[in-house]
Amino acid sequence: MLIRASLLSAPSLQELRFEADGGLVVDGKGSITDAGAFEAVSARHPGMVVEDLRPFWILPGLVDLHAHLPQYEAVAADGLELLPWLERHIFPAEARFADGAHARATARTYLRDALSLGTTTTVLYATIHAEATDAIFQEAEACGIRAVIGKTMMDRHAPGSLREDTETSLRDSEELCRAWHGRDGGRLQYAFTPRFAPSCSRELMLGAGRLAQKYGAFIQTHLAENLQELEWVRELFPEADSYTDVYRRFGLLGSRTLLGHGIHLAPAERRVLRESGSHLIHCPSSNAFLQSGIMPLRKWLGEGLSVGLGTDVGAGPSLSMFREMGEACTASKLRRAAQTVQTARLSQVPGLSEEQKLLVAGALDLDPQPALDAVGAFHLATRGGAEALGLGDRLGRLEPGFDADFLVVDIRQADPLKRVSADPAHVLSRLVYRSDPHLVQAAYVRGRRCFHRSGT
Ligand SMILES: [Zn+2]
Repeated sequence: MLIRASLLSAPSLQELRFEADGGLVVDGKGSITDAGAFEAVSARHPGMVVEDLRPFWILPGLVDLHAHLPQYEAVAADGLELLPWLERHIFPAEARFADGAHARATARTYLRDALSLGTTTTVLYATIHAEATDAIFQEAEACGIRAVIGKTMMDRHAPGSLREDTETSLRDSEELCRAWHGRDGGRLQYAFTPRFAPSCSRELMLGAGRLAQKYGAFIQTHLAENLQELEWVRELFPEADSYTDVYRRFGLLGSRTLLGHGIHLAPAERRVLRESGSHLIHCPSSNAFLQSGIMPLRKWLGEGLSVGLGTDVGAGPSLSMFREMGEACTASKLRRAAQTVQTARLSQVPGLSEEQKLLVAGALDLDPQPALDAVGAFHLATRGGAEALGLGDRLGRLEPGFDADFLVVDIRQADPLKRVSADPAHVLSRLVYRSDPHLVQAAYVRGRRCFHRSGT
């Protein structure tokens, strides 16, 4: 198949690659075998049937690295911070996943909605329920999305209906991993999913780390999201130097580890994360919604930390990664604006030495780098996400040798006057900041069309 359309991708945080009249060849195995200017590509493939999609644009599929599928029905329950919000709104929604039919129906809706908004790879928390987790995997297998999924593990500090004993949690998780990890040529993968340190015993975390190692599976959990949560972790794990050190001690860090948030991190923690090759998932809409804080994203990236993006539904209100990209830019700008004010105020405090000012700047994670822009956010949501999953050589680019995970986007939906434009930077900025729900016309995973907007 030779597709003719404009091609847009972001190979790095600063770089856009754009082909106004592009050609993309996808083979029967779902790989991109040729890409570039249409004239040159078509000349290399004489006689190949052309699917002319102009004026639509082709973008790499979007990667959502952190979301809770069972929380979809509870989105936008406002008014609380993390811990009371979990108790009041989230645990009741998760308890309903004891009903396998409800889990399956929610999964079907969720995955269809995610694809319709451009997410071709999703990393999901299920609940503690093995049957529900299995149903989510089945729905992901059927709809064609690329997914990393894990049964949530909780053996303490959870309501009775969501608390398991340690052995059952480990056994059920291992069975699910054996059933699903690597299914369909690696399209589906398993993540051992201890929810977060406060809801896991030491034995559970140790066991999860060992099992992930044994099967080469992922580990996903939460880290340093909320200050009250940090205090609780300090009380529960007095032996640890920090929140990050808790996970280090129990063997949960490494290049297959995905850590939601990571907003409040001391320099020593950042060093441990960097050296272990662990990945942070920035979820800006969730962090704003629960008033958790604003990740110093540019600072973390500048220090060499690996960071991807996630919606964190249901604390994030939308499954749209376009919207999340816009939120990431906005959060970065707000942080920068606040920093400008803080720095100005600091300079007006009488009697502060330069050394004291530097100390304060360090404590506030002040960052001299400019705010994240749409190109950077697009990179994080495509190539950055692929790299966090160890798929940097397979996903996130529109180039030969990469898997054909891509979107067909109607850029007119983001234009106020519904026009076509050839200015890739401005178009991308509009896709990100306006995030219209009708942008995506079709979504492909390994060459298979998994979503198609009817009427186009
Ligand atoms: Zn989360």
